[in-house]
Amino acid sequence: MRIDLHAHSAVSDGTDSPAEFAAAAAQAGLDVVALTDHDTFDGLPAALSAAERLGVRLLPGIEISAQLRGASVHLLGYGCRTDDPDLLAELSRVRGGRDDRVPGVLAALARLGLPVDPAVLARARGDAPSIGRPHIADALVALGYVADRQEAFDRYLGDDGPAFVPRYAVGLGRGIDLVHRAGGVAVLAHPWGRGSRTVLPPATLERLVAQHGLDGIEVDHNDHDAPTRAELGALTARLGVLATGSSDYHGTGKTDHPLGANTTAAEVLAEIDARLAAAGGWDGR
Ligand code: AMP
Ligand code: MN
Ligand code: MN
Ligand code: MN
Repeated sequence: MRIDLHAHSAVSDGTDSPAEFAAAAAQAGLDVVALTDHDTFDGLPAALSAAERLGVRLLPGIEISAQLRGASVHLLGYGCRTDDPDLLAELSRVRGGRDDRVPGVLAALARLGLPVDPAVLARARGDAPSIGRPHIADALVALGYVADRQEAFDRYLGDDGPAFVPRYAVGLGRGIDLVHRAGGVAVLAHPWGRGSRTVLPPATLERLVAQHGLDGIEVDHNDHDAPTRAELGALTARLGVLATGSSDYHGTGKTDHPLGANTTAAEVLAEIDARLAAAGGWDGR
């Protein structure tokens, strides 16, 4: 079984429509794929019906923008009931924060000599319910300021870049609780990627498990090198939590993260399914 539990469609910052995304999962030979768009469930209905036609199992998911002491961290929620009012209210607040920061980013870019016409950004955003930095990156590419998304992040939009503007995110412990109250399973995304290791040291991960019942940790991810995966894998075993692996596919937005680049063991998915069944979550079937 080939199982990939973290991927994006154009409903957030991927580039495939939900139906194209399901087709890409079938094409990649996946048996199970989770759609985990940032802060929205909007892509799930179309992706689920396309996946069903193609014989791929689609696990409903989400990647929630969270924060710990002000530092950005990402939380994966699997099988959350998509009509949970508390979770929906929080997601709506996060998406509002995404849109509210855009004028500040555009002003910073203009000061840097990179004016962006809002119409260009609107085209880059497409039908996504909220704007992500990758959409702003796409606008910079369209205007010929940079060659690709990565250059846009490296020069301007990254967390230490000159056009970075912070935004609202959910407290991490509260995010885990919201996922659980919606019947879902909570897995911390790429905790030791891109410098976030200092934000999430082992003692903090242990506390999240003890105090909030964090279910799992994404171990096999392209932002983790081999020694990091080994260390994090050992930590998940010690803490008794699930270890997942996934591509974090973004379509053509991140060509080094193809679907199936990392995968999750069948026993781990079986445990996720068991927890969803026990908590009244939604396994997509
Ligand atoms: P946002 O959610 O708007 O803050 O944008 C974050 C998204 O941008 C992430 O989900 C990644 O897809 C992408 N991203 C963040 N940091 C980088 C980076 N340093 N290089 C490339 N892409 C990044
Ligand atoms: Mn992303
Ligand atoms: Mn992420
Ligand atoms: Mn992601």
